[in-house]
Amino acid sequence: MSNHVRITEYLDVDLDSEMWCCHKCGAELYSARENYKKGCLLFDRDPRTLYAPATGPRSPIAPNPEWCRYIEFYCPKCAALIEVEVLPPGHPLTWDIQLDLDSLHESASTRGTDE
Ligand SMILES: [Zn+2]
Repeated sequence: MSNHVRITEYLDVDLDSEMWCCHKCGAELYSARENYKKGCLLFDRDPRTLYAPATGPRSPIAPNPEWCRYIEFYCPKCAALIEVEVLPPGHPLTWDIQLDLDSLHESASTRGTDE
């Protein structure tokens, strides 16, 4: 049996394999000592597509695509949307969650059986 700990709505970490996993389907994404985004499918979305058609394809409220992009991160197995970040075009991916795996192992080993 795996030893999953929930980290976000759609991300778990498996303490046995030290892998990021999709919470929805359990697919292993990437090493938990690295950025989980490296194991996701990415979609570089033009922000203008998020505002159509209610305000039109050239909505004046949509961010300028030359200044920002919506980077969507999906589970490669079940296509669950794991994260979205807004970045300037060409910006490297951010590493937003860095786990202290040693502390997670320690707290898991001291956890009682009543959880
Ligand atoms: Zn999944």
